[in-house]
Amino acid sequence: MKPTLKRPTIDSVTTINTDGSHYILHPADVQGRFTVSRRLFALCLIAVYILLPWIPINGNPAVFLDVENRRFHLFGLTFLAQDLWLAFFVVSGVGFALFYLTALFGRLWCGWACPYTVFLEHVVRRLERWIEGDAASRRRIDIAPWNSAKILRRGLKLLTFFLASFVIAHFFLAYFVSLPKLWKMMMHNPQEHWLAFSVVMFLTVVLFFCFAWFREQFCIVLCPYGRIQSALTDDHTLTVGYDKGRGEPRGKAGSPGAGDCINCQRCVQVCPTGIDIRNGLQLECIGCSACIDACNEIMTKLDRPTGLVRYDSMQGLQGKKTRWIRPRIVAYTVLMAVGVLALGLTMRRLHGFQATLTRMTGAPYYVGEAGVRNQFQLRIINKQQTEQEYRITLEKAPEGTLLGGLSGSLKVAPQSEQQQVVMIEIPRAVYAGKQSMQISVINEAMQDTQVIEFEFTGPNPRLLTEDINKKTP
Ligand code: SF4
Ligand code: SF4
Repeated sequence: MKPTLKRPTIDSVTTINTDGSHYILHPADVQGRFTVSRRLFALCLIAVYILLPWIPINGNPAVFLDVENRRFHLFGLTFLAQDLWLAFFVVSGVGFALFYLTALFGRLWCGWACPYTVFLEHVVRRLERWIEGDAASRRRIDIAPWNSAKILRRGLKLLTFFLASFVIAHFFLAYFVSLPKLWKMMMHNPQEHWLAFSVVMFLTVVLFFCFAWFREQFCIVLCPYGRIQSALTDDHTLTVGYDKGRGEPRGKAGSPGAGDCINCQRCVQVCPTGIDIRNGLQLECIGCSACIDACNEIMTKLDRPTGLVRYDSMQGLQGKKTRWIRPRIVAYTVLMAVGVLALGLTMRRLHGFQATLTRMTGAPYYVGEAGVRNQFQLRIINKQQTEQEYRITLEKAPEGTLLGGLSGSLKVAPQSEQQQVVMIEIPRAVYAGKQSMQISVINEAMQDTQVIEFEFTGPNPRLLTEDINKKTP
């Protein structure tokens, strides 16, 4: 006999039965201004996710993380593996921005912009709605015996989910391999690019598992951002909430002494995480605003003011004033400003090419008849899509110092690197010992200059004079 499942209670996670099994939710459809705005916003976001690897900026895709060649193209800027320390500022900047947004607007990100929510709510649930009908119809299919009609519908639904997962996995891969290469991979035998194929299949399976079964559980039990949000918000944070003062006591429309809530449960039926917003702010709430539209529908039908469930702070819901400027907002603002300033200053140091100068291995210097000589390896990486010419000059060097190994300039092919041995020789007559010098690598076409400081090394100048005296009778 099939064991009876115990439905989740008010004290348990809404989608986990008390026996530990998954309670499958079928949120009802809802209409309203927030639902329409959210759908339009999601369509724009999906277009952005798909188009980012296609839109060229400065000859490269807007976002292309070329791991194979260790080059990362972000909105016209090219970063090499050596520039990755900048990622610290970018990641911490994004982190603080999320803290900031959460402190001000609660889980706005989760309900409106998170890619997982966008694909789950606006692609997967839409497909499910088209194939299996509305929430009531889906529940009927759930409990129906496995006949041919159910097998056909469920099979079609799962096949569609798998295809959606497969397509999304390819969109994801497009961020890491160039589009011509992605196309070539898709057209050729998977054995020729087994790593990319394995990544796509792994991602497809994970997404399929999430879309077909795990769904809202990801936000409730796995997402780390969801876990920390309660520490980031306070009573002045804007969240989706229920106006208890206006809604309670619940009762039928027209009952004497009853509040505005008629206990129709519509706000619970539409919730994608299955919670009752009337129980107060809960960890499971992703701030999607479906319950606002649902309750507004009911209030409009009853000819009562909308906003019984609305975007407001806990203070606002209690009829008190919401304070926007608070110590944590000031602290996050200062931290963000410092982060933006630091990022701005470091970005100024980012060049369209990278030049490095390394001392050659072996003896650090050579003393010859003409003077003291040091040898270096000059390495230039051209980050541009076209061939570039670099002029090299020596500065802070004594009069008569020779720069050998270079005929004035160096041409480097697009998106490649070139190495050149550079010899620097100070004549004996002007040699004054170890000293700092500079090499400037100038790209006149891009008006970009990189200055490299280095130390010229050699023997004590006194020893050099004695050496000359010995040789001169
Ligand atoms: S309680 Fe309302 S805002 Fe929160 S997840 Fe449920 S429907 Fe969305
Ligand atoms: S939809 Fe509005 S009226 Fe209906 S139960 Fe929810 S809060 Fe009450």
